[in-house]
Amino acid sequence: MGEAIAVISGKGGTGKTSFCAGVSVALAVSGRKILCIDCDVGLRNLDIPLGMSDVGALSFRDVCEGGYPLSRASVHPQFGNLSFLTAPMNCGAEEIDPAGFAEMIRAARQQFDYVLLDAPAGMDAGFRLASENADRCVLVTGSDPASIRDAGHTAETLELMGKHHVRLVVNRIRPKMVAAMALTVDDVMDQAGLPLLGIVPEDPNITFAAAFGKPLLSYKKRSGAATAFDRIARRIEGVPVRIPIRKFK
Ligand code: ADP
Ligand code: MG
Repeated sequence: MGEAIAVISGKGGTGKTSFCAGVSVALAVSGRKILCIDCDVGLRNLDIPLGMSDVGALSFRDVCEGGYPLSRASVHPQFGNLSFLTAPMNCGAEEIDPAGFAEMIRAARQQFDYVLLDAPAGMDAGFRLASENADRCVLVTGSDPASIRDAGHTAETLELMGKHHVRLVVNRIRPKMVAAMALTVDDVMDQAGLPLLGIVPEDPNITFAAAFGKPLLSYKKRSGAATAFDRIARRIEGVPVRIPIRKFK
């Protein structure tokens, strides 16, 4: 039985979609069967960091309301363990039938080891579709105080929704900036009120890889962010991989 993981944030642009693609690829490379679902209805873009923009992917609405089987999800051209459903473009998230979506995720758990749900920013219908159907939530934040506080507010909402397995990822870490703010991992966890799943460095290769239409791992195997995604993937699987806090204090 697989697990569904919602990748969320209060703010937009914190790196949810890049994270979702990077960790999905890392999990697929380690042999896990992965389904990635873009839940950003009307503003889909997970296909870009996955390197699947040229694939005419089925939307999740085609599956949960249109009668297509999950086996029709697009398979990644390089990583055969990774399947993908894009978000519908011609409707609003509030038009998606929540029961149909929940049924699709139930079925996906039977067929995949992990189902990653790339949520939109904010806390509206798309956020709810992803988080309500998730076994775990990953909250992606920046390292600046406003982002971390915002993550704390989102964490409170999740708590009220009865979501208890919520972990924090601090993205775009620039060691010098963090040092100048005298911020420690403990401070971040205290301010957000959440345990840390991992940190991801600022890495221009994320933007370059997307610009060249390639997954990060195919563009630059040993980049800082690719290494971070790999470490986080292993932690998701329960391996106690150390968080490199040496650079983050
Ligand atoms: P979200 O899904 O939260 O809106 P994205 O993953 O689309 O965020 O990222 C927003 C922008 O930030 C993109 O241009 C992406 O390339 C860039 N980005 C994300 N994470 C990093 C990082 N660790 N280093 C550098 N750029 C990043
Ligand atoms: Mg996004």
